[in-house]
Amino acid sequence: MNLEDLFENAKLYPSSRQSFLEILTIQEPSNYINRVFYTSQDKKMHLGYVLMQTEPNIKTKFAIKKQKSNLRVFPVSFEKEFHENFDDFLSTFCDHEYFHAMEFYKNPNDIIIPLTKLIPLYLKEKIIKTYSLQIDFLKLIYTREERALKKQIDNFENRNCSNQYMQKIKTDWQICKSSIDKINSQFPKI
Ligand SMILES: [Zn+2]
Repeated sequence: MNLEDLFENAKLYPSSRQSFLEILTIQEPSNYINRVFYTSQDKKMHLGYVLMQTEPNIKTKFAIKKQKSNLRVFPVSFEKEFHENFDDFLSTFCDHEYFHAMEFYKNPNDIIIPLTKLIPLYLKEKIIKTYSLQIDFLKLIYTREERALKKQIDNFENRNCSNQYMQKIKTDWQICKSSIDKINSQFPKI
């Protein structure tokens, strides 16, 4: 069976999803991923269902470079509503999540607020609850997403993604960009 057939099979049989993901990471390898996990419980966040999630190593949270991440894949990734075809799935998996993992590996300082900085602030002044740090967090998350979504869009010409999926990614990218603009205009860095 080729990868696409294995993907179709994994859609039908949840018990085959973990092995499908392992075969996929052998055939589409990343130097920045440690392990890939299938999780049978879906996860919803404020923007809707999470399709996949790159989980940085604990050392990455201390801004230590060259740490591989784990990648978690949720059941909705195997539903037509979210990934209409195999290239949609690959776009999320390889172009978006591998990109996050690469950034966590190479530039943890640019994309996280290190725990070494957060913990003393939190213990001392509970600054974590203040507005400015929340804004920093928000900006960090939006800019991180903006870059990963742009990476997907740039690679659409090499994939055969569905129109529905490409439109969704382009819309998400625009939302990220306008959110960043809004934050920058309302809270200019001092
Ligand atoms: Zn992302």
